[in-house]
Amino acid sequence: MLKPPKYPLAFLPTPLHYLPNLSREVPYQIYIKRDDQTGLASGGNKTRKLEYLIQDALNLGYDTVITAGAQQSNHCRQTAAACALAGLECHLWLNGFQPEHYQGNLLLSHLLGAHLHFSGDQAKGREAALKQLQKELNDQGQKTYLIPVGGSNLTGATGYIAAMSELKQQMTEQKIDFDYIFFATSSGGTQAGLMIGQNIFNIKARLMPILIDKEADFEVPLPQHIFDIISEFNVASSQPIHINLDDILLIKDYNKAGYGILTTHEQAAIHLLARQEGILLDPVYTGRAFYGMWDVLQQKILPENSRVLFWHTGGLPALCAYADALR
Ligand SMILES: *Cc1c(COP(=O)(O)O)cnc(C)c1O
Repeated sequence: MLKPPKYPLAFLPTPLHYLPNLSREVPYQIYIKRDDQTGLASGGNKTRKLEYLIQDALNLGYDTVITAGAQQSNHCRQTAAACALAGLECHLWLNGFQPEHYQGNLLLSHLLGAHLHFSGDQAKGREAALKQLQKELNDQGQKTYLIPVGGSNLTGATGYIAAMSELKQQMTEQKIDFDYIFFATSSGGTQAGLMIGQNIFNIKARLMPILIDKEADFEVPLPQHIFDIISEFNVASSQPIHINLDDILLIKDYNKAGYGILTTHEQAAIHLLARQEGILLDPVYTGRAFYGMWDVLQQKILPENSRVLFWHTGGLPALCAYADALR
């Protein structure tokens, strides 16, 4: 099994627990895996990926990290925090114009010392812009490590291979076998890692990835990107995973509004979990994914008494940036 050294950033294992109140409303047992509690400057799923990415950057002698995302990117905020701890200079390439007021993740990335670059209305693609920024920094004598959007390459996905091992152990301890695992999928690293880890650690639950973005927004179709990460794993591994491109499931029923657009769906899910279980979801990812899961559970298409896990991937700071829409 592939086990590169990691740079410790997360509080692990994250809690796995039952949702008693919501489980009373449907003929299922619902559990939650709390990766919103990974602990790095308010946590989230990117922390697990960054443990491997930051170690890789340090191993290879880099002194600067560049990555990119939306202004409310949880990935950018967690990267800024990881770089602060590891003594790396952090540059973030963010979509759109610099706002007058910083809120949510953008405020935190700033507080965590990242250098913020705003794309404005630049027509040039993000890839090209990142390469240009990397060249400028390298010309100044820095050694820059480029982390892809969402940290979604094999190095980052390794965090979610390991997360499956962690889940397996908790399932043994708590004597619980899951039938379904729901989670938000966007840049694909989490899903790729979970798929590989599921194979390695023999977890029979069916993965239920709720697609967040519109398919038209992807430069490479998401299933292909996930397939590429798994193929790269297979090249490096003595235990290759046999998966076809067609086996890569995406649940595409909840992404119509587009990335980052809060609708009555996300709002309903945020209210539901907050008021029934005292747990906060985020407006972009987990609010959408939880809505999708709840919708599926309410349709009662899954077999009765199924044991269902919602993998909470974080995103809390973005709630504060959507304050007006959530009132
Ligand atoms: C990035 C993110 C996701 C999606 O994970 P990917 O690995 O990009 O698919 C889900 N939830 C939250 C809160 C995120 O920040």
